[in-house]
Amino acid sequence: MRNCGATRPYADVMPRYEFRCRACGETFELSRPMAEANAPAECPNGHDDTVKLLSTIGVSGLAQAPSSAGGGCCGGGCCGG
Ligand SMILES: [Zn+2]
Repeated sequence: MRNCGATRPYADVMPRYEFRCRACGETFELSRPMAEANAPAECPNGHDDTVKLLSTIGVSGLAQAPSSAGGGCCGGGCCGG
């Protein structure tokens, strides 16, 4: 039991990395610790000849976050005059 973990905010956060298999062309994503970002990844089809793609880590979540301004209704005409 190792429960003596430091309360690191990123302890449970594993960024997603996108890989592409050069053997079959499959692209896939893996969630792994940053420490293993450059570790070899295996294609879902079993190939290990993969390359890590550059991805915008963490940006997609922010981009899709709903903004406080401008709801989906107001401005659409349904709550206006
Ligand atoms: Zn493959």
